Amino acid sequence: MSADRIDGKAFAGGLRERLAATVPAFTAATGRVPGLAVVLVGEDPASSVYVRSKGKATVEAGMASFEHKLPADATQAELLAIIDQLNRDDAVDGILVQLPLPKQLDEQTVIAAIDPDKDVDGFHIANAGRLAVGQPGFVPCTPLGCLMLLKDRIGDLSGLEAVVIGRSNIVGKPMAQLLLGESCTVTIAHSRTRDLPAVVRRADIVVAAVGRPEMVKGDWLKAGAVVIDVGINRVAGSEAGKTKLVGDVDYASAAEVASAITPVPGGVGPMTIAVLLRNTVVAAHRRAGLAPPAGL
Ligand code: NDP
Repeated sequence: MSADRIDGKAFAGGLRERLAATVPAFTAATGRVPGLAVVLVGEDPASSVYVRSKGKATVEAGMASFEHKLPADATQAELLAIIDQLNRDDAVDGILVQLPLPKQLDEQTVIAAIDPDKDVDGFHIANAGRLAVGQPGFVPCTPLGCLMLLKDRIGDLSGLEAVVIGRSNIVGKPMAQLLLGESCTVTIAHSRTRDLPAVVRRADIVVAAVGRPEMVKGDWLKAGAVVIDVGINRVAGSEAGKTKLVGDVDYASAAEVASAITPVPGGVGPMTIAVLLRNTVVAAHRRAGLAPPAGL
């Protein structure tokens, strides 16, 4: 058996096109375009790359991108002042503070300062609570992107056994909530889980969000499982001095057993920014008192 490759890049491209197509009607109704503000503190190279690509994708979708850069030694008061300004700016529908923050800044306090209705990352405790009780809010982009890929592949997820490996607030926990919302039977595994391979073998759906290169092996999987690999791990490549990206799943052995699997790169990764734009479009509509466009 050789699993189908779930093409997250193509799916994300389609979503971005659908989002761009919603902008003219929003502009006709409100006289403006949806806007996303991204705040970067310091010059971490990976964070700078993410912020640049988020800005580029926002503009490509016909939306407004606002970038705010603070020096690495910025104080909590300076950062909170910018968030306050963005909370009150009507042209800004979504606010994202790029994480991780330098160590003098407290992430929880910073996230708590963002208006929950502009919290397009879905990290505010109000949005975590809304997800837990099944109210509309904002869901973190990576797990929502995973759910979109799963529904596109499988359709109705109701009654399926899902195992989520990882319990972080940004991936594992919201992923489990989303799958529960789809009426899956959900198990959350983590570093203290006993006999992880046996737990994973029960699953029709496996979501790996661990941060350990190629940890999940093909012989951990039930035949026909659908595997979503969230992991992004940089490891030594075959050429000396070169590195490559791998997921948390050993793709080659997993593809022998699974029915479908996301590759790394090109699977979950491209979904994250596309869903960020999706959340911004939804935020813009809600703030303007309009129904969010269907099919997003
Ligand atoms: P965290 O480090 O916050 O969480 C990792 C989780 O994996 C923890 O819950 C941990 O358990 C669990 N874990 C660690 N080791 C094991 C083990 N041996 N067996 C079982 N569980 C284990 O990571 P994130 O959730 O932030 O990210 C996970 C991965 O996803 C990373 O590779 C990250 O780079 C990637 N990622 C990708 C994104 C994308 O856009 N594609 C976005 C976000 C993340 P415990 O809680 O017990 O410590």
